[in-house]
Amino acid sequence: MATTPTKSKNPIPNRERIKMPRQHMPEQAPLVRAQQFTEVNLGYSAELARQEAVRCLECAKPTCTKDCPVGVKVKEFVQLIVDGDFLGAAAKIREDNVLPAITGRVCPQEDHCEGSCLLCKKGESLGIGYLERFVADYEQQHMDHSRIRKAPPTGKKVAIVGSGPSGLTAAGDLVQQGHIVHVFEALHEVGGVLVYGIPEFRLPKQIIREQVDYMRAMGVEFETDVVVGRTVTIDELMDEDGYDAVFIGTGAGLPQFMGIPGEHLNGVYSANEFLTRINLMHAYEFPRYDEPMLDLVGKNVAVIGGGNTALDAIRSARRLGAGNAFVLYRRSENEMPARAEEVKHAKQEGVDFQVLTAPVEFLSDGKGWLSGARCVRMELGEPDASGRRRPVPLQGSEFDLPLSVAVIAIGTSANPIVQSTTPGLQTNKRGYIDADPVTQRTSRKGVFAGGDIVTGSATVILAMGAGRRSAKSIHEYLTTGAW
Ligand SMILES: Cc1cc2nc3c(=O)[nH]c(=O)nc-3n(C[C@H](O)[C@H](O)[C@H](O)COP(=O)(O)OP(=O)(O)OC[C@H]3O[C@@H](n4cnc5c(N)ncnc54)[C@H](O)[C@@H]3O)c2cc1C
Repeated sequence: MATTPTKSKNPIPNRERIKMPRQHMPEQAPLVRAQQFTEVNLGYSAELARQEAVRCLECAKPTCTKDCPVGVKVKEFVQLIVDGDFLGAAAKIREDNVLPAITGRVCPQEDHCEGSCLLCKKGESLGIGYLERFVADYEQQHMDHSRIRKAPPTGKKVAIVGSGPSGLTAAGDLVQQGHIVHVFEALHEVGGVLVYGIPEFRLPKQIIREQVDYMRAMGVEFETDVVVGRTVTIDELMDEDGYDAVFIGTGAGLPQFMGIPGEHLNGVYSANEFLTRINLMHAYEFPRYDEPMLDLVGKNVAVIGGGNTALDAIRSARRLGAGNAFVLYRRSENEMPARAEEVKHAKQEGVDFQVLTAPVEFLSDGKGWLSGARCVRMELGEPDASGRRRPVPLQGSEFDLPLSVAVIAIGTSANPIVQSTTPGLQTNKRGYIDADPVTQRTSRKGVFAGGDIVTGSATVILAMGAGRRSAKSIHEYLTTGAW
């Protein structure tokens, strides 16, 4: 519940705060962690958290909050850490962010709050993500579900389709407003990409389970193994099952391929399949879990792409014993979309970054298995539609890279099941659902959508922002009936 901020007790003058170094996040040693799936970052102690928190300049107009897609009141929660009120700090974050233990770990803070922190101009930004993670974990250890408060029941029913960060955020906000909230998830575990995509060493599954348990305690009901559009349609949910509104947060989980020769060979995976086998089906715990995976021990493995997905895949391959682990990325490191911390960690773990390089063909051993990739080197030309400089192949730069496994992580697109079974639901030409960017309303009355299924693959915090805006609009719709 909300905590009124107290006046800061930070005794250190601003000119001194600017000179203080950012507190390092304790982490497992690279050679140790590259052998196992346990979390790389170990988290701040209470002492480290307070030492970091006192660096905050307490800006009069905090750009960190302005640049956070869900508007977390950074200055206020950091001040509560300085004051030693860690539960108060957690409550302050929860006013705007229902999944702080998750965003504290995976949000690209350098593009949002930390990127606009005034301390950046003088040196290193405040460790906002690390501090958020600290208070969320502290809260978890001292969790008291009896403190949960919510509005009186409204009797209105909302169906949430998909349990990724957009769906979880919408569900959390709506249940607090007294609505009956039911989440339908196609997979057998709740969490979307957070469970099937992002590996244990970055985001332990237990964290997601704890956040989901918290939401269960708030009253959210979860039903897994339900593919909306197959098991039940949106129309059936609204016309027969009595749902007053529906939120669609089905993500963008359909893998894209390169369309180059040899992509069909055994040993070529989509990142989606590769990571799902490892994370959701626990292939890394074989034989305790009966999930088959090609033996990677001592083998050459490459991932194609430069985003978080690519780095999660190649760092997982290292942990499964890959001898040489390559990232093949067609632009330079400056254009790489992955979080800066993941690039740093991957390098420390021995991943070989072959930038300005792209495969043009996968090579066969003659028996249907991958034996290598024919690659070309690139240079950067003029900017393309994305604003990034276009990679242009360098004449005569072809070379062959021997490989046993290649993982394609060049992006994903929209899964069409819900769109194709919901008459009147408008989509754009790429198959994503058309939704108003402010209200998240779709072309169907009572149906809202947000997250990757609207924007295309983006980030956890942007999906959460959409979930939050949707919940606000759904609440307005349910209370006023206006459309
Ligand atoms: C490997 C990987 C690593 C990433 N790392 C980061 C990171 O470090 N930081 C970051 O900010 N972002 C990261 N992202 C991106 C981020 O995870 C996504 O932008 C975010 O999860 C999108 O949330 P969402 O709620 O829109 O959808 P998702 O998280 O995709 O969840 C959608 C859910 O809907 C379910 N679903 C789909 N269709 C149906 C249906 N018909 N019926 C019922 N359920 C359905 C799916 O099974 C899934 O559980 C990463 C993505 C990947 C793939």
